[in-house]
Amino acid sequence: MLETAYNTAPPLMHRTGRLVIGNWKMNGSLPSNMSLLDGLLSTVESVAKTTQLAICVPFPYLAQVSQKLADLPVTWGAQDVSAHTSGAYTGEVSAAMLVEFGCRWVLVGHSERRTLHGESDEWVAAKAKAALSVGLTPVVCVGESLAERDAGQAQAVIERQLAPVLAMGEAAVKQLVVAYEPVWAIGTGRTASPEQAQEIHASIRQLLPSPSHTPVLYGGSVKPDNASTLFSMPDIDGGLIGGASLVAADFLAIANS
Ligand code: PEP
Repeated sequence: MLETAYNTAPPLMHRTGRLVIGNWKMNGSLPSNMSLLDGLLSTVESVAKTTQLAICVPFPYLAQVSQKLADLPVTWGAQDVSAHTSGAYTGEVSAAMLVEFGCRWVLVGHSERRTLHGESDEWVAAKAKAALSVGLTPVVCVGESLAERDAGQAQAVIERQLAPVLAMGEAAVKQLVVAYEPVWAIGTGRTASPEQAQEIHASIRQLLPSPSHTPVLYGGSVKPDNASTLFSMPDIDGGLIGGASLVAADFLAIANS
């Protein structure tokens, strides 16, 4: 049986310090992950003094990262989770299984899952609830499409996406992280301006029952050259980083911004 390695750093449940999470998406291989992790670990100790760092990797690589990162100041998680606990759900992975691999985090409702897999707002909330039930921190991703932004509906869309999550109640919402990721900025090289991001972050903050407890991250083409202006906005508590998390130097530079 796999030796389970648990990373013991306390979870971030309030807005102190910065949180930067990498989303590897469906990328990697055992050897390429090893060199990416080696690159991260070369200077992670100094970055981790100011920033809480995490990576969300494909399911098959959880064993590798749990062994490589045990006792280091980088936590890890998955990119999706089942809303069910066990049973006839072929292809799904339960929250309890993720805990067995030392996961601290799980992304739920990433726009690629909402768009490509038809995940509804209610289903995303059910996944967040499943994660919380075993002590995992769900990172609930929300964000509007370009058409929705152009129609002036950005805030309304985010409110709708968050409604079933907020309905879980204050105790639950205090335990999760929200990531604002405008769909038009994900993987496109087109970033929301710091002001555009701040406006949405502030409106998300107003919806939260305990605004000082729930970190709100920004995601969407964050790179070393735009991270510091985004992260300097008052309601941006860090980032969810896709493409740039695959390059150790870029990910660390973003975390250090
Ligand atoms: C993401 O996948 O969550 C993301 C923000 O991607 P990128 O940074 O590549 O836009």
